[in-house]
Amino acid sequence: MSKLLEGKPIAEKIKEEIRREIAALKNKPVLASIMSGDNPGAASYVKSQQKTAESLGVEYQLHKLSNDTSESALIELIKKLNTDKLTNGIIIQMPLPDSIDYKKISQFILPEKDVEGMHPANVGKIAFGKATILPCTPASVMELLKETGIDLYGKEIVVVGHSEIVGKPLALILLDKFATVTVCHIGTSGAGKLEEHIRRAEVLIVAVGKAGLIKGEWVKEGAIVIDVGINRVADKIVGDVEFEEAQKRASWITPVPGGVGPLTVTMLMRNLVEATKIQGHPPNQSEGCPLKK
Ligand code: NAD
Repeated sequence: MSKLLEGKPIAEKIKEEIRREIAALKNKPVLASIMSGDNPGAASYVKSQQKTAESLGVEYQLHKLSNDTSESALIELIKKLNTDKLTNGIIIQMPLPDSIDYKKISQFILPEKDVEGMHPANVGKIAFGKATILPCTPASVMELLKETGIDLYGKEIVVVGHSEIVGKPLALILLDKFATVTVCHIGTSGAGKLEEHIRRAEVLIVAVGKAGLIKGEWVKEGAIVIDVGINRVADKIVGDVEFEEAQKRASWITPVPGGVGPLTVTMLMRNLVEATKIQGHPPNQSEGCPLKK
């Protein structure tokens, strides 16, 4: 039987470190959160961020825009926050109105205020092994792996899902640890090869968003399984891995909910502290930021 890899206790330990770091800063870090419209999911995420921020001594400033906000109005607000010396981090809540392209908008945030770690300059730094701010979900996965005590060197790691926010940056981070990384996606399933990759994974990380995609019996004996997926099935939240069967084989497995999820807001706050420190000692490059061209 496997051990449960829970996010909450790890998040609590990291929050203690964050509190100490914030106490050592000259000013309270300020996080600007931009929300468009009244989406209930976004509202509940904002609430949880606000609560965590307050508990850590972070000032959380919510900028609520209407549902019909234009792209140009959003860009103007970002530019204003970029130049505001009192704002240390900027986060854009999803979903955005259909008329707004997140990928375009997020590039206007200064890389040193990009606490989600999604600016191309920050993602690019991962590829060079010089990351300062990591995207929150991959950072959470790395904290969970750290907790198992595994040495990633030479391990067969299979990441299922190749999105910009999870799979791609995570694969780069793991390569930097000298793991042998295979990234599977819809094409892998289309070619009928998903099962064969999963079966040899010593570490399996799944971020797809399809309940039951990964059959428990595919999981290698002793594997570490991190399930990032969130799916609502008959009023229950489940991951992408068949938990009961996988639990019989894995050495460690994350519950859903309760695995990756509880860590992501903490990673956001850790990024804010990092961003605040960088702004105190600015690096001399901010490549890729449209505002600096
Ligand atoms: P996405 O939709 O951007 O990407 C999905 C990925 O899954 C793609 O790479 C796609 O090719 C792959 N895929 C789709 N069908 C597949 C199949 N049949 N076989 C193999 N691969 C397949 O998703 P995302 O934004 O990366 O999110 C993935 C999941 O992780 C979602 O359930 C999301 O809710 C969850 N998520 C959780 C957290 C958290 O904090 N726990 C954070 C981010 C995302």
